[in-house]
Amino acid sequence: MATNAPVHTGRHFLQIPGPSNVPDRVLRAMDMPTIDHRGPEFAKLGFEVMESCKTVFRTSQPVLIYPSSGTGAWEAAIVNTLSPGDKVLMAETGHFAALWRALAERFGLDVDFLPGDWRSGADPAAIEAKLTEDKAHQVKAVMVVHNETSSGVTSRVAEIRKAIDRAAHPALLLVDTVSSLGSITYEHDGWGVDVTVSGSQKGLMLPPGLSFNAISEKALAASKANKMPRSYWDWSEQIAANKSGSWPYTPATNLLYGLKEAIAMLHEEGLENVFARHRRHGAATRAAVKAWGLEVLCRNPEEYSPVVTAVLMPEGHDADRFRQVVLDHLDMSLGTGLAKVKGKVFRIGHLGHFNDLMLMGTLAGVEMGLELARVPYRTGGVLAAMNVLTGKEAAAA
Ligand code: PLP
Repeated sequence: MATNAPVHTGRHFLQIPGPSNVPDRVLRAMDMPTIDHRGPEFAKLGFEVMESCKTVFRTSQPVLIYPSSGTGAWEAAIVNTLSPGDKVLMAETGHFAALWRALAERFGLDVDFLPGDWRSGADPAAIEAKLTEDKAHQVKAVMVVHNETSSGVTSRVAEIRKAIDRAAHPALLLVDTVSSLGSITYEHDGWGVDVTVSGSQKGLMLPPGLSFNAISEKALAASKANKMPRSYWDWSEQIAANKSGSWPYTPATNLLYGLKEAIAMLHEEGLENVFARHRRHGAATRAAVKAWGLEVLCRNPEEYSPVVTAVLMPEGHDADRFRQVVLDHLDMSLGTGLAKVKGKVFRIGHLGHFNDLMLMGTLAGVEMGLELARVPYRTGGVLAAMNVLTGKEAAAA
């Protein structure tokens, strides 16, 4: 039957800010027979991935691995450390902060949500002021999204830690690194984070399906005293099973083979090099956006995301129509604007298994799409990015 649907050849460009492209090496590593998850062969893999995860979170404490999406790890962080009625402090950095807040409220937490315009990160000074005011130490946790995937803004977690310390406040620090782990500098122990929440499908270069809680001793102690009912997400059950290399339920065996391979790849490149690569690609992307005469959603150069750039559409032009034109004509998926910024921004993902030519292909696709969709722009974005990548022109912030 004849159809008008475009026939695409070559590889699809998946340039959403996660799930990101999975390296062939990782796909091959997962292409294994399913094994007995209570047998000795699996225990060896279990121990290996538990240990190697610590090197990515940069912690000497346990990292718990769940067969779930990142949202599950959010829930795990909450039900293990907090109870209904507990006051928590969060910051409105974008859609994912709003979703985490909604989840917290469903568990009866009393959320103080510092308002934001989605164009900057969580403000350490505002957090410090709130905690300094809280003389009775009613705030039990500060919860922030490290890299806000919806807005392309990276919050300054190390500074937030210092702000909590300056206020001499005992609140736990819970951080969502779903779209930053393995792409943006992060130090679970070094920054004094109590629970780091993450997922497999972005910087870790795996398909969706694994999530993580890295936990501090303080968080573990809080979980032991915490009365919130929990079962599937219960840290104590999992920590007990992990001691023999297993899980209290069926783990995602084949994804764990992939995790082992992906972490090996991150270390072959060197984590610092991985972080520098992402920063460089972020800078080249922003150079392109500027040359097109468009605007990046993030307002604060200190908080530009190295993994995703959200671009504002000119007034009167719909970002989703533009994305549709790019998909139809060029077979490239760009990230949609979420919630408040639906139709107003599109997002370019530049994370995970990625290189200079993939970025140039992506930016060429955006520039061609702007032309094809008749969006007002100036040519030269691709050239500007190329000049950043070759070093012909120094990158701006
Ligand atoms: N937090 C952030 C920053 C995210 O980007 C996402 C998903 O994109 C989530 C949480 C939710 O993760 P998931 O969709 O895997 O449940």
